[in-house]
Amino acid sequence: MEEVLDRPFLCCFTYLRTLMKPIRDFFPLLTEFPKRVVITMHQKPDPDAMGSSLALAGFLQKLGHQVQVISPTNWADFLKWMPGCDQVLDYDTSKDKADQFLKEADWVFCLDFNAFYRTRHMASMLERLKCIKILIDHHEQPQIDSFDYGISVVPKSSTCELIFEFIQESGNDSLIDKYIAQCLYAGTMADTGSFRFPVTTPSVHKMIGRLLETGFDHSMVHEAVYDNYLENRLRFLGHVLSNRLEVLYEYNTAIIAISKADILRFNIRTGDTEGLVNYPLSIKGIKLAALIIDRDEERKWSFRSKGSFDCNQFARAYFEGGGHKNASGGRSLLTVEQNVSAFKQALKQVASQLQ
Ligand code: 5GP
Ligand code: MN
Repeated sequence: MEEVLDRPFLCCFTYLRTLMKPIRDFFPLLTEFPKRVVITMHQKPDPDAMGSSLALAGFLQKLGHQVQVISPTNWADFLKWMPGCDQVLDYDTSKDKADQFLKEADWVFCLDFNAFYRTRHMASMLERLKCIKILIDHHEQPQIDSFDYGISVVPKSSTCELIFEFIQESGNDSLIDKYIAQCLYAGTMADTGSFRFPVTTPSVHKMIGRLLETGFDHSMVHEAVYDNYLENRLRFLGHVLSNRLEVLYEYNTAIIAISKADILRFNIRTGDTEGLVNYPLSIKGIKLAALIIDRDEERKWSFRSKGSFDCNQFARAYFEGGGHKNASGGRSLLTVEQNVSAFKQALKQVASQLQ
């Protein structure tokens, strides 16, 4: 993400200020009379979405607020160790209860997504709410006219880093305990590829230093997230890499296409396909990796790149998606095969960017 980092931060803030109030204007409200708060995140939450939401929940509870975290969908088993995860509501299976919390909320925080459609069946409810809505996110092109307060900083490593700054800059650093710290650590770890991607700035390392001072076991966090799969997932990985990977050397690109039959054969559940799209990038010379999976209601794309190729633009232009420069996603109602053909056609259009 070097180019993104080169962009002056000021542009981002100036642009946002005209449409939603900066997050620091919200700080004085934090100590007002206890509020009813809902925190939500993007569908199929990853460690950054769930970690930032639970860390913020823990922090706001310490300030005396009443907080309910709602996920638009179910989530992977490798998130279930996070403190507070057992209290999270799944909108898909607890819609009535979740709607009640949303209707009664004074504040709704939207974390780690840039547009309401990323919350699937929750989207129409969120659009209709009249309470104070706050966005905290790091994805490109946020839907800022939908929020009262917010911060959207594309060059940030993770939403967890933004929550850390939210806590510190509102003058509450002393409230960061080991439960909040391990949630923030998990999200930052995941979004930086275990502190490997270019977004891992000196500030990220300083933050991690502060989090570790709380005394949580960071090795446990790595194990809980990455070494917590069932045998079938490893067998599935072997099958996919042997039989479902196509390398298109002329475009420095590799694609993995997974059918419904593959999902059923290996009993694949939410979270089992996490990280799969990164494997092709370990092949020398590969600059773009793409993964398409046949989900029940749609075909879901994931894109990852190395260097200058812009996955966000690619996903927006060809597959109704978006995300970041080096990691994005998209979707389509066409079949897997039709999608793979469309992808290969799209590659011809962007071939020069992949040389
Ligand atoms: P993943 O491939 O892990 O699902 O997503 C990669 C990145 O792209 C994440 O930051 C995710 O939030 C974002 N992303 C995934 N799918 C979509 C999409 O359909 N629309 C947008 N705007 N972002 C997406
Ligand atoms: Mn994130």
